[in-house]
Amino acid sequence: MQKRIGKEKKKIINKILKIIRENRTFFISSHMRPDGDSIGAQLALSSFLRRLGKDVYIANRDPVPAVYQFLPHSSDIHVAEKVERNFDVAFILDCSDLQRIGNIIDLKNRVRTVINMDHHPDCELFGDYNYVQPQASSVAEELYDLFKQSHWEIVEEEVLALYVGILTDTGRFQEANTTPRCHEIVAELIKKGISPQVVSQKVYESRSGPGLRLLSLTLGTLEITAGGKIAHLSITQEMYKKTGAREEDTEGFVNFARDVEGVEAGILFRETDVGDQFRVSFRSKGRIDVSKIARLFGGGGHRNAAGCTIQGTMEEVKRRMLNAVSQEVDNTGTTKERHSQRC
Ligand code: 5GP
Ligand code: MN
Repeated sequence: MQKRIGKEKKKIINKILKIIRENRTFFISSHMRPDGDSIGAQLALSSFLRRLGKDVYIANRDPVPAVYQFLPHSSDIHVAEKVERNFDVAFILDCSDLQRIGNIIDLKNRVRTVINMDHHPDCELFGDYNYVQPQASSVAEELYDLFKQSHWEIVEEEVLALYVGILTDTGRFQEANTTPRCHEIVAELIKKGISPQVVSQKVYESRSGPGLRLLSLTLGTLEITAGGKIAHLSITQEMYKKTGAREEDTEGFVNFARDVEGVEAGILFRETDVGDQFRVSFRSKGRIDVSKIARLFGGGGHRNAAGCTIQGTMEEVKRRMLNAVSQEVDNTGTTKERHSQRC
């Protein structure tokens, strides 16, 4: 297995392009509860491979969220517990570890070459080839570079899928991974015909009624602790039942906790339909590294956005997470104390 890339980007992309040229059957998968980057990257890559005459099969453990179903060919993404087919190559996208694909395929026995494409700083290099760029805003950005290096013109559906990946993974160009590079790429994508307004309407102005009613109930659970530095929100199964909302409707809810003035870290606790299991989402401001906390509990993510799944009662889970987060906030110091922090 090779080392993390960095400067070696050109080389690894060339290697991947060679593998694409030399093989015929491709499997593409991404993480459970897929997001805009995982779906956008999967669709852009599959379109590219199909244009090269390849046989492509895309499958995830969880369905494409409703807001991303406007993307062309989103219905080509299968939902599967297990894929029982052999492939020459598997592309695993946006997964910092293999657990994230939820055991969807037996990679060892069913796939000859595994390509890991990811942008998480803590990504395990589980692929035979690892195109892992922590400085990339998204996997969509990494794919853009790969397409560019192939010298193939990008077609309309790829432009749209890549744009959605970058838009959503940068939190609408607001998170720390919003770089000059990703704006340069987005400028290219807009020149190729993307309407940011139309995409924004599809992705962000398409909340369901039940989802909005769930948001209203969720905001009612807001608690602010640690002297105003941590805010958290909670969702129970009861609340889903009452509103008819789905888990995917909770996209972005955690940001409301972080939005509170003076708050350094926001947390969303979601009770799942598996007994005693909770999904925890963390969002932070500035230097507070919530991925460290998520990793402590078997999850992962980025410095300012991370998550994990944890067993326990709502009370236990809250206590453990709040303790861990307040320790991290204390150790890092608050934004006010960090005079030198750049905007
Ligand atoms: P979210 O709070 O939106 O579910 O996740 C935020 C980010 O944290 C994701 O983009 C992903 O990078 C990471 N993440 C969330 N849950 C997990 C998890 O269970 N394991 C790992 N390794 N990363 C996670
Ligand atoms: Mn991503």
